[in-house]
Amino acid sequence: MKYIDSHCHPNNADLRGEAAAVFERARAAGVLKMGVIGSDLADSIEAVEMSRTYAEYGLFPVVGVHPHEARTMPDAVAPELLELAQSPEVRAWGEIGLDYFYDFSPREVQQSCLIAQLEAAKALNKTVVFHVRDAYDDFWKLMTPDLTPEHAVLHCFNGSAADAKRALELGWKIGFTGMITFKSAQALRDIAAALPLESILCETDSPYMAPVPFRGTRNEPCNVPLVYRKIAEIKDLDLDDAVDQIWKNNMEFWGFEVNE
Ligand SMILES: [Zn+2]
Ligand SMILES: [Zn+2]
Repeated sequence: MKYIDSHCHPNNADLRGEAAAVFERARAAGVLKMGVIGSDLADSIEAVEMSRTYAEYGLFPVVGVHPHEARTMPDAVAPELLELAQSPEVRAWGEIGLDYFYDFSPREVQQSCLIAQLEAAKALNKTVVFHVRDAYDDFWKLMTPDLTPEHAVLHCFNGSAADAKRALELGWKIGFTGMITFKSAQALRDIAAALPLESILCETDSPYMAPVPFRGTRNEPCNVPLVYRKIAEIKDLDLDDAVDQIWKNNMEFWGFEVNE
């Protein structure tokens, strides 16, 4: 089976030092593509460099400024980031959004950082990777016709059924992490059960969000099959069929050629 981890952070300090071993373990687990996601400028540069250095593992970079880092990068669309985003291998702009759970950056700064990046993504015709936590009211208010991206994913989804419905109406994807395996996440499983499989992506968000039975430990892309397995179980599908369909979802979403 061919798995894709659509969202991970091997460029994070927790994984970077043993990147080659992390990618080897991923490949051994059948994870043949991985989206390497940026959180600020330095981290985005690293995502691109890592994807070049370890090209044989099927990495693809995504660049942008995370709401946590908005306060350190008030100029979220610095010229270096704009230039980086135009590198041919960069598949999307992200992760960007609002995080009112941690509030590491002031909310107004998070919002202006998000708006500036949405404008840039639109100008460059880029797919968008969203991070939204406890902030959907403000998030949807910001989604004016001018700013709403045509292609986007709500990564590490933990919103409501209404949020998921709204994303589907826009033609966006919903990304599920190991959170969906947590005992406390029944509401999330109910939402996943009702979604069309075509709208779903599976991800680790490693080094965070390790699925059961590894909850609380450092996560890695090699654990993404556990997320697929849970999706198949929830939706009462054969694992092979679910994995095949989600592979197709990813190929189309990130703009890969079928045999890439
Ligand atoms: Zn995130
Ligand atoms: Zn992330």
